[in-house]
Amino acid sequence: MEKITSFTIDHNALQPGVYVSRKDNYNGNIITTFDLRFTSPNEEPVLNTAESHAIEHLAATYLRNDEEFKDKTLYFGPMGCRTGFYLLLMGDYESKDIVDLLKRMISFIIDFKGDIPGASTKDCGNYQDMNLQMAKYECKKYIHVLNNITEDRLVYPE
Ligand SMILES: [Zn+2]
Repeated sequence: MEKITSFTIDHNALQPGVYVSRKDNYNGNIITTFDLRFTSPNEEPVLNTAESHAIEHLAATYLRNDEEFKDKTLYFGPMGCRTGFYLLLMGDYESKDIVDLLKRMISFIIDFKGDIPGASTKDCGNYQDMNLQMAKYECKKYIHVLNNITEDRLVYPE
């Protein structure tokens, strides 16, 4: 089998940032897949599943309510390696186009109080596996990346 594109990125050179992972054309519609890299692969501790899960529920809730992007949001979910998340948007975008969206989304999580949406037996397959405080900790680290974003954190390393 051929190696898929996302395995050809040099993960040793990859730092936390916002990257375009791929663009797909489906019946003339472009779908942009973003790599929201929270931690430096094979260098920093990965996100635990409980904080990834809490971020997934809160980010998906935020994105599907954002006035500008709710109808363009196709998917948000964690990477299996637990160093970040994938976001799929309908449309042809570059990383810089979504930095403000991500700042809004991450701020929503940092400021969130109360019950995490969808955290119930009816709505989720493992609803107790959530850690809001650690989700906020990881989001505070990531918003620092977003607030100080530079070109090398917006485009994959060569
Ligand atoms: Zn869940």
